[in-house]
Amino acid sequence: MNKETICVQGGYKPGNGDPRILPIIQSTTFKYDSSEEMGKLFDLEKSGYFYTRLANPTNDHVAAKICELEGGVAAMLTSSGQAANFFAVFNIAEAGDHIVVSSAIYGGTFNLLVNTLTKMDIEVTTVDPYCSEDELNAAFKDNTKCVFGESVANPALTVFDFEKFAKAAHSHGVPLIVDNTFPTPIMCQPFKFGVDIVTHATTKYMDGHAATVGGCIVDSGNFDWMAHKEKFPGLCTPDESYHGIVYAERFGKAAYITKCTAHLMRDFGAIQAPQNAFYINLGLETLHLRMERHCSNAQKVAEFLEANDKVAWVNYPSLKSSRDYANAQKYMPNGTCGVISFGLKGGRSAAEKMMDKLKLAAIVTHVADARTCVLHPASHTHRQMNDEQLIAAGVSPDLIRLSVGIENVDDIISDLAQAME
Ligand SMILES: *Cc1c(COP(=O)(O)O)cnc(C)c1O
Repeated sequence: MNKETICVQGGYKPGNGDPRILPIIQSTTFKYDSSEEMGKLFDLEKSGYFYTRLANPTNDHVAAKICELEGGVAAMLTSSGQAANFFAVFNIAEAGDHIVVSSAIYGGTFNLLVNTLTKMDIEVTTVDPYCSEDELNAAFKDNTKCVFGESVANPALTVFDFEKFAKAAHSHGVPLIVDNTFPTPIMCQPFKFGVDIVTHATTKYMDGHAATVGGCIVDSGNFDWMAHKEKFPGLCTPDESYHGIVYAERFGKAAYITKCTAHLMRDFGAIQAPQNAFYINLGLETLHLRMERHCSNAQKVAEFLEANDKVAWVNYPSLKSSRDYANAQKYMPNGTCGVISFGLKGGRSAAEKMMDKLKLAAIVTHVADARTCVLHPASHTHRQMNDEQLIAAGVSPDLIRLSVGIENVDDIISDLAQAME
């Protein structure tokens, strides 16, 4: 099926007499007739539901839809995008290991990977997303376990060079993990360009209505763990907490997601509530329509800003003037996302004043919402970063992050014009 059809009908396939709409299985637990059968579920010898912290049918149907959209083999939902990124990395890296991370990523993920993982004794090297192949290769160590990037960085809007990073990761025997929140699989499917694992904050465009926080991890099934056995003992050697099961042998292409569920979800418990998964599914049913409108509205708003004499600079990857235009055309030619960053000639203080005058666009800590919204990252989402880290993340102190919604674009433009005036 094509993406539009998967958005509407993917994941949940009702049988004869079943509910037409995805049911919310609001149950912590599941009943079995024999004690032996329940035991087999605990040993991962049989698949089935027994406790919602590990798996729930509503969640699994939604994960299956996102998996189909990305073209992956296995997927799981998490309680938030943060949980998805943490699990995606921690599933294969532990104390004493090292990871390579693009410096242009979401502020929350930067804190998680660069500050919190360091406290867990996972060493992190950040690299400039525009680095040369030599500079990138120099970042790897013997104990490197993965490379992490963001397909369109929030809020720097850097378009990740998937092929450059995939080549380097694979030549060092490790997978490439990419957060694909901003373009969504509607605009970009990273697995086509060598990415091994994709994560999402479903909180953003997938939900799309600012109703529900959630996350998702999708595995392409393409990374051969057993070929790099010594690097990934968690997947390739017996797990004593499951009677010596070897995930990569027992579960083949589903090994990574199975381990992540059986191990990290069991122990950390960052499960999506089935009720919230239901809301995300409602959002997914119109994702293809909304992304089209977000992108066409953002293109017009970006062109308006670029032509306005109060504006110092505009960055939108689908503008010819963007440093990322070539990568955007290569990896997401039909559009990138609805987010634009720009600065005013009056700098940081003009940015703050202008934002206070907006009427249609609201100041909120959110992006990728049906409603147009703005944020000043240096004083909001990225305020934990020092100036050096801000610049490495592609966030200048005057940067305004504008998330263009799906309202009438003329109304959005008039609002910006009056506020700037
Ligand atoms: C918002 C966001 C996250 C974090 O997601 P939460 O659901 O807020 O935890 C991660 N990555 C990107 C790119 C985001 O925009």
